[in-house]
Amino acid sequence: MGLPPLSDELLEFHREAFVFDGHNDTALRALAGEDLSHRLDGGHLDLPRMREGGFDGGIFALWNDPAGGGSLDRLLEDTARFRELVERTPGLRIVLRPRDLDMAAAEGDVAVVIGVEGAYGVERADDVDRLHDAGVRCLTLTWMAHTTWADASGLRPMHGGLTREGRRILSRMERHGIVPDLSHSADSTARDVLAAAERPVIASHSGVRRVADHHRNLPDELLEGLARRGGVLGIVFFSGYLDEGFWVACNAIGRRLEAEGADTGWHAHGALARAVAEEVEPVPLVRLLEHFAHAISIAGAEHVGLGSDFDGVIALPEGLDDVRDLPKLTAALTAAGLAPAAVRSILGGNFRRILGEIL
Ligand SMILES: [Zn+2]
Repeated sequence: MGLPPLSDELLEFHREAFVFDGHNDTALRALAGEDLSHRLDGGHLDLPRMREGGFDGGIFALWNDPAGGGSLDRLLEDTARFRELVERTPGLRIVLRPRDLDMAAAEGDVAVVIGVEGAYGVERADDVDRLHDAGVRCLTLTWMAHTTWADASGLRPMHGGLTREGRRILSRMERHGIVPDLSHSADSTARDVLAAAERPVIASHSGVRRVADHHRNLPDELLEGLARRGGVLGIVFFSGYLDEGFWVACNAIGRRLEAEGADTGWHAHGALARAVAEEVEPVPLVRLLEHFAHAISIAGAEHVGLGSDFDGVIALPEGLDDVRDLPKLTAALTAAGLAPAAVRSILGGNFRRILGEIL
């Protein structure tokens, strides 16, 4: 399937829709000193390109390195630094409460919800108070390692899901209006969270396991659970989670580079990313559409959204080079037969509803 042509009407529809993305790693670039108000070399997001791509907001994740357990103090320092950077960048607006979303939309600002990916260093419910005070409004329970109270996906289980302290932490998040995010959680953790949660929960950047059998993707049972809780799955754009063959090829290249003594880090500009770009056939956009279609068939269009993982991945599907290509996704969803209202919900309406409910 080729890309559908972008008509003026389609571009206008995309521009008018509230486009909100569940997860990006751009905050890490900002903290490393890159100025988001300028067009940056490489990567996927900056303010000029957000405007071109009709990107109205997203969850900007800070990442807490689990090596050594993660430090809450360092995380809070990063949060304060990033918040200050956003607050002094015209065109970006921090979202702390629902009316900030409305104001961002009214002023044409990009809405920035601060998230934390991996609750390393968060060990007790009282730690959640400090995150909330700092401006964090979404917490991805785990990244690629277990926390002291929740199991991550893809590893030998440690707790068998969410511990009792984990339940206390979840309930404190709900009390403060911090959105719990199940991407990277083990299925057992996600099940426990859905059973204990009283408010909507999201999976900010994952695919569906029925299309690509990867532990980072959600099985149908969890998609149904997420929808019953009123939540949203943001579909990730990373080719390795979207397509099993692509994942196998990336790992084979990683092993070869390792044997050669090269850097095998999964950074956007590393040796692995370069070798993958040269050697592996890109995943077609239609594969991404398959994840959307299956998620919609199980959870309903009211429970599916975007979860790009822009600036955090080494490969994107063919034709989606950065945020400027988002209108192509709108065109593809429309060409797949979705009604305009459903496309608007998926582009950002669903995330906006949940943020309005929870914050
Ligand atoms: Zn992630």
